[in-house]
Amino acid sequence: MEEKEFGEFRRLLQSAAVTLVAVSKKMEEKDIMRVYGYGQRDFGENYVQELVAKRKDLPADIRWHFIGHLQRNKVKEIVGFVHLIHGIDSERLLKEVDKQAAKADRVVDVLLQVHIAREETKFGFDEKEIGEILPLLNLYRNVRVKGLMGMATFTDDESKVAAEFAGLHSLFAACKKHEEAEEWNTLSMGMSADYKIAISKGSTMMRIGTLIFGARQ
Ligand SMILES: *Cc1c(COP(=O)(O)O)cnc(C)c1O
Repeated sequence: MEEKEFGEFRRLLQSAAVTLVAVSKKMEEKDIMRVYGYGQRDFGENYVQELVAKRKDLPADIRWHFIGHLQRNKVKEIVGFVHLIHGIDSERLLKEVDKQAAKADRVVDVLLQVHIAREETKFGFDEKEIGEILPLLNLYRNVRVKGLMGMATFTDDESKVAAEFAGLHSLFAACKKHEEAEEWNTLSMGMSADYKIAISKGSTMMRIGTLIFGARQ
């Protein structure tokens, strides 16, 4: 996107109270700096090595989101600086983030990933498991669970995507009753192909790559 188009896109999301995370995986540092120049500060990466390298070179005021599948043995490499980890998909991973965050003397913000795409095997908790883990969250003093993240089925069937996002939103709203309301405030759903549907279903944060940067190699 050129600056003007990007500005319009961001205003659209702002008017829906949605935070934009620009997904810069596989993009070069100069591409990131172009979008940084438009005023964007939230960027999302999927790979630990790539994130660590980019973070070293790029401005310190970037808020780095980790949006990929995080392996437990890599947690310590990002825990000292990461702004939000979107893909907590097991209690073992949550426990490891808590442990490493304590060592780094930080409280790290995270989201629980929910498996909403029915026919595909994707990482994440199901609805029942979310219900089971919520009462245990206060055991983990060095993580702050801010909400949920989910990815819809990759399909042209918009009604299917809409139903999955609506389901995730109602789970998010149901959990809010149990959690501290001001901490439980983030629902990360929506990508380039389905962001309009995600807005209509109550997303508060989107992870957008292709639409901003163009197709990845
Ligand atoms: C790559 C990726 C995105 C961005 O996808 P686009 O279709 O390029 O917008 C969002 N979320 C996750 C988890 C991703 O891996």
